[in-house]
Amino acid sequence: MAFADTLIAWYEVHKRDLPWRGETDPYKIWVSEIILQQTRVQQGWEYYLRFINNFPDVKALAESDEERVLKVWQGLGYYSRARNMHAAARDIMTKHHGQFPQEYDKILALKGVGKYTAAAIASIAFHLPYPAVDGNVIRVVSRLFGICDDVAQPATVKRITEICNKHIDREQPGVFNQAAMDFGATHCTPKNPKCVECPFATTCYALKNQLTEVLPVKKKKTGQRHRYFHYYVYISDNKTIIEKRTANDIWRNMYQFPLIEKDSETSSEPSEYTIREVLSHQIIHATFYVKIAKKLPETSENQFVIDFDNIHDYPMPKVMTEFLKVLETK
Ligand code: SF4
Repeated sequence: MAFADTLIAWYEVHKRDLPWRGETDPYKIWVSEIILQQTRVQQGWEYYLRFINNFPDVKALAESDEERVLKVWQGLGYYSRARNMHAAARDIMTKHHGQFPQEYDKILALKGVGKYTAAAIASIAFHLPYPAVDGNVIRVVSRLFGICDDVAQPATVKRITEICNKHIDREQPGVFNQAAMDFGATHCTPKNPKCVECPFATTCYALKNQLTEVLPVKKKKTGQRHRYFHYYVYISDNKTIIEKRTANDIWRNMYQFPLIEKDSETSSEPSEYTIREVLSHQIIHATFYVKIAKKLPETSENQFVIDFDNIHDYPMPKVMTEFLKVLETK
């Protein structure tokens, strides 16, 4: 049996039950793929339903203001995903007359859409034969076909994409891509792949050569940058000061307590709480200083006074919501 046939036969029996399965609306496929880029399926499921509920189509997303989009996204992290989708939705309304583009290159040109996502949308919504090569597919192909080069190298990914191109089912490319994703996510998993009950057990290179723990070959991660955020939580008469983050980073246009970024975690002041958040390229060390006083200090540009009870109305980075959880249990 050809690779694609075996894979699809496996998929027909084992496919995951996901809220976007069977979906042919490119907008909904796009939303699901962007959410799943850096989020586990379990958490993504809830956010997908919430996002579609708030923004049922491209027009609704385009017409929303960014703050509402960020608020709906809050908790998922990697906020550039939400910002890019919002910008792309507006582009679809203006440059594509509100119609989701139907060609791979035009889908790929949307803000925040990479090759994987473009291929997923093009194949599932429009039956175009582009393989969607994500980490799962890279692992499966590396093991099955014995790709022993570093998968962090673009040349290796290109080679894996060529293999997928050769094997993709041209009649049902969307099914092939979803089958490959599910097979990687649930069967040929990073640890303890189910080799004993695998339909590829007789042909798999990694299994034959006892390399399932070695493949795919991955280069060690480069060092992460440490950042030290010192937040000042002024409270007076149940009011507090927050500011809008204007720096052009992943938290742009989100809200926070007045913040000073320093070179270290240490400070002469006693802190209330310290939270660490590990992101892909940086580790945030957030220290919070609670200052209860008769009068709030003067606000500066971008800062304003709110009722503490209304703080959850504002989109906030994760370290802020984590700190508020701690504060609310005190
Ligand atoms: S035999 Fe094991 S390593 Fe090979 S494809 Fe199947 S699950 Fe993956």
